[in-house]
Amino acid sequence: MKLLVTGGAGYIGSVVAYQLLAAGHTVEVLDNLSTGHDDGVPAGARLHRLAISEAGQVLDHSFDGVLHFAAKSLVGESVAHPERYWHGNIVETLHLLDAMRQAGVDRIVFSSTAATYGEAKVQNITEEEPAQPTNPYGASKLAIDHMLAAEAAAHSLAAVSLRYFNVAGAAFPDNGQVLAERHDPETHLIPNLLKVAGGEREAAAIFGTDYPTPDGTCIRDYIHVLDLADAHVRALEAAQPGSHEVFNLGTGTGTSVREVIEAVRVVTGHPVPAVEHPRRAGDPAVLVASGEKAAQRLGWHPRRSIKEMVEDARRALR
Ligand code: UDP
Repeated sequence: MKLLVTGGAGYIGSVVAYQLLAAGHTVEVLDNLSTGHDDGVPAGARLHRLAISEAGQVLDHSFDGVLHFAAKSLVGESVAHPERYWHGNIVETLHLLDAMRQAGVDRIVFSSTAATYGEAKVQNITEEEPAQPTNPYGASKLAIDHMLAAEAAAHSLAAVSLRYFNVAGAAFPDNGQVLAERHDPETHLIPNLLKVAGGEREAAAIFGTDYPTPDGTCIRDYIHVLDLADAHVRALEAAQPGSHEVFNLGTGTGTSVREVIEAVRVVTGHPVPAVEHPRRAGDPAVLVASGEKAAQRLGWHPRRSIKEMVEDARRALR
């Protein structure tokens, strides 16, 4: 297939673009490099340095589908500046869908998020769990899920929303590229802990130690970016015209912040001093996926452990 990957210079988009190329697809990347890096675009993919809303300049009937990653994705920022998320995620995506319709491109795989669920009431979140986001980031992604469902019903779009849990790790293509998380400022847990283990930062921050969890810290379902990318290749092929399907992508196993700190200690062999801070706004206590639907319908089985995620994230720093 010939595919447009928005956000293909960013962390997850670049790894998926690389996997799609490896699977024999033709890939073009749309990325304005606002947070992505041009050296992150996988070799073999052409880069169009444009905003999502400018996708009409690139899309034509020769494209078979779009994988839509480009987005603003920081929970804290979304609480402080919600308007950035309404514009950057919802409005920009509306323009992308208009451009797809005009060009006759009728297949999309969208990066949704576990943040659409908010505070889940169940241990392992299925796709049937009511979506009640606790922050504007999750709300903006949920709005796009609704847009895709309506677009599928009205215009026969083949649409899939993949709701990611916590993505970690990195990919190392044969050509020596390193496809990894590179955020500035870095807000994510594992990269920040590695900075402490590497001596670049004095102490890690634990955001909240009074959550109703066994050790008081937030529990998340961490998933290796290569396992995640594999689900996209499968979802692209499984998408059906006129249907919008949602899949949760996680391992089904929860890991607390303190347990992640311990994993970083073990992998690096360095101490990771941590300072306890108040809760971060918008963070639910527990987010763990049920991977059952993706296993059954996509034949998808994530294989990589939290240890491999930390090891690969560390290798990417060198
Ligand atoms: N977290 C933390 N210290 C950090 C960064 C994150 O305690 O320096 C916590 C955060 O509150 C959340 C979990 O680690 O419970 C994962 O956060 P991250 O930002 O990596 O991903 P998110 O869940 O926001 O997508």
